[in-house]
Amino acid sequence: MDYGAASPVDARVLEAMMPYFNKDTGNPSSLHSPGRKAKRELEAARGKIANLIGSLSPRSVIFTSCATESNNLALRGAAMRYKDKGNHIITSSIEHMSVMNTLKDLQRSGFDVTHISVDKDGLVDPEKVKNAITDRTILISIMYANGEVGTVQPIKEIGNIASDRKILFHVDGTAAVGKVPVNVEEEHIDLLTVSSNDMYGPKGVGALYIKQGVRIMPFMLGGGQEAGLRSGSENIPGIVGMGVAAELAQKEVVEDGRRLIMMRDRLIDSILKTEYTYLTGHRTKRLPNNASFRFSFIEGESIILQLNDLGITASTGSACSTKTLEPSHVLIAMGLRHEEAHGSLLLTLGRFNSMDDADYAVESIPPVVAKLRSLSPLYPKQVK
Ligand code: PMP
Repeated sequence: MDYGAASPVDARVLEAMMPYFNKDTGNPSSLHSPGRKAKRELEAARGKIANLIGSLSPRSVIFTSCATESNNLALRGAAMRYKDKGNHIITSSIEHMSVMNTLKDLQRSGFDVTHISVDKDGLVDPEKVKNAITDRTILISIMYANGEVGTVQPIKEIGNIASDRKILFHVDGTAAVGKVPVNVEEEHIDLLTVSSNDMYGPKGVGALYIKQGVRIMPFMLGGGQEAGLRSGSENIPGIVGMGVAAELAQKEVVEDGRRLIMMRDRLIDSILKTEYTYLTGHRTKRLPNNASFRFSFIEGESIILQLNDLGITASTGSACSTKTLEPSHVLIAMGLRHEEAHGSLLLTLGRFNSMDDADYAVESIPPVVAKLRSLSPLYPKQVK
């Protein structure tokens, strides 16, 4: 139940990728037949990503090495391209580190960044975004959904505001694309980060949608691949895999979502019966695969280790933040106190989980919580 940290590659994806490691090994820039085959596969994959996100033009999709790189390219690329127009960027206080840290770096180069606060459910209010716009604003970057608490943002409303004011709108779609329907045209998205592994494709590849007509500056310079926006020999096996993963996601998003929601709600409804246990994130505006909680009086890390012994892999939050002992910036931004944020448990479900897995977690978690609370010096004092 830690699909948010890493997902298995779907067997159908793996099978499609295999020939491109040692049989069809052409470089798309080569003129010979293997090269031309690689070029056809590259363009076919581009089309599949474009279809998944509702883009009218496959040329709008640029392949990168991961979602982190796509976020870097979108933010740095837009900031550098439009710096003569303005230096103000709007974002939320619950973005992934690849957005937060890139913007921090841009601040050091003179950009001004406004972080929009979220409510207790992790929702961004579009009105706050609107009110933060100045005549120097060149870019708004808000994630589609937060992988740590599952909250899905009102992207279309924010997109409307951005497009009315003619400000570029970047959306980090890592946790959402393939989980919920995303449509760049209907939602007025100019730049969209797409992850491969988060939709059962391989790691080592990602994509950035760039609306036709939007210009950004590249930071990876070289041979001019990917329309000059991301030089470097294309990762054809990875790109083919991501393409097939996107095709499967498009076909299966609704059915997968229905199954995931049933498992998610089984987890949420049962685990919330445990005393002093709270859901984090919005109850309904929520990713189908995300069940996240906080338990008073105990530490999330202790729960994870106990669950690991029972064969359940879970996490306390974003895998990217576990290297620090700091509480999650997402939970703090949602108004939790440090000690509350430390008691977090994140269960992320995926295509290969079954209702039996959900039942096993529902049986296992309350006794683990009870055992840890019986050892916690905080528990009796607070409750009595
Ligand atoms: N954005 C979001 C919302 C994420 O959850 C993650 C991590 N899965 C990333 C970006 C970065 O993804 P990656 O580590 O694959 O580059």
